[in-house]
Amino acid sequence: QPRIVIAGAGHAGGSAAAFLRQYGWKGDITLVGEEPNPPYQRPPLSKAWLKGEATAESLALRPARFYAQQRIELRLGTRVAALDRAGRRVTLADGTALDYDRLILALGARPRALPLPGADLAGVLALRGTADADSLQAALRPGRRLAVIGGGYIGLEVAASARALGAEAVVIERESRVLARVAGRALSDFLAAQHRGHGVEIITGAQVLGIEGEGGAACAVLLADGTRIPCDTVLVGVGAVPNVELAEAAGLDCANGIVVDLAARSSDPFIYAIGDCTHRPLPLYGRTGRLESVPNAIEQAKQAAADICGRPPPPPEVPWFWSDQYDLRLQMAGLAFDAHETVVRGGTDAPGFAVFHLDAGHRVLAVEAVNAPAEFMAGRMLVAKQARVAPALLGDPAQPLKDLTA
Ligand code: FAD
Repeated sequence: QPRIVIAGAGHAGGSAAAFLRQYGWKGDITLVGEEPNPPYQRPPLSKAWLKGEATAESLALRPARFYAQQRIELRLGTRVAALDRAGRRVTLADGTALDYDRLILALGARPRALPLPGADLAGVLALRGTADADSLQAALRPGRRLAVIGGGYIGLEVAASARALGAEAVVIERESRVLARVAGRALSDFLAAQHRGHGVEIITGAQVLGIEGEGGAACAVLLADGTRIPCDTVLVGVGAVPNVELAEAAGLDCANGIVVDLAARSSDPFIYAIGDCTHRPLPLYGRTGRLESVPNAIEQAKQAAADICGRPPPPPEVPWFWSDQYDLRLQMAGLAFDAHETVVRGGTDAPGFAVFHLDAGHRVLAVEAVNAPAEFMAGRMLVAKQARVAPALLGDPAQPLKDLTA
């Protein structure tokens, strides 16, 4: 039997196994995952799961019986430790050797560690898997104070969940605004105001010097300007680094991720790579980059499965992402590279609004929508069509967006 080995049983790896069967792969599929759980969804870990509103079943990507029904062999709690490209064979940490006809690397990313004094104290946490989320949840209750280092999406979501659990939260951001790397200023300012309104303290332009401990446990975050921020728990949320070591050691092309094409092929014709661990083409923008999102993991899983099964490649999608904080549903589509102008439709004091990012020629590059699903859908369509729209029309809620997308 020909065999496909998938290294990494996360959102991308689990999706690839399912698409391979859907697209007609009849051979063996072995899904190897370092974590003990079958593939599960990470987005709820900072949201519903953290707040105790999700069950293990709702977290699972597929019901447990799916894998046996689909003849997908799960090897969990062990990692792919070595890759022999010439022999088309991987060796697992438990010593098992597996030959492959095709290998899919779906290794994900891990939280970036901060080389700070005190980073190894008890109570200094990161968030990637269910075990991390459970430790964090145990620390969030009334009378406790959480300090979040890093005002990115995960840090802000956890701050919102901490408030829901009755804990105090302070977000410490190095840049002059939260979400500086991933969102426009209008959205950053709006979200910072929302968090402050919910009692979260937000400190920007802050340089963290270290974490102070007492009896081996974190008790404060120290800033370069002398500020001491007392806390019981520290969440380090300063981004993720792709797990590329296995690929690099085997000599695959890597550049902040395993380099792949639009069929998710690596520089080895027998090896694919998908999800957070890849550096991929972004055809709408004429460049390449690394995306960390569920829609990207699914899109690349489809690309790899289609190529392996001899199907035409799926049409490229507009990159998109969502986040939930308090009663706000944020949906972002496109990437605001080279944005020249932003247009706010609806006004940030309205119940729902959208921010459009345009280039100098009024091409719609990206949309950020807050409680505005129709604007998100229409905006995503404008991005896909590389449409050019006059800013005055986009910004006028009286102009139906669906007419602009026609
Ligand atoms: P992962 O899901 O990380 O899976 C990779 C797996 O491979 C892991 O289980 C890892 O242990 C395993 N592994 C690594 N090395 C090996 C090895 N050598 N052998 C075997 N196994 C190995 N995205 C959104 O779109 N919306 C959101 O709201 C959102 N919220 C998020 C909230 C949190 C707290 C986190 C952590 C992420 C969030 N994301 C969100 C991002 C999204 O979860 C990721 O983009 C997605 O999980 C990527 O899937 P992946 O399979 O590439 O990586």
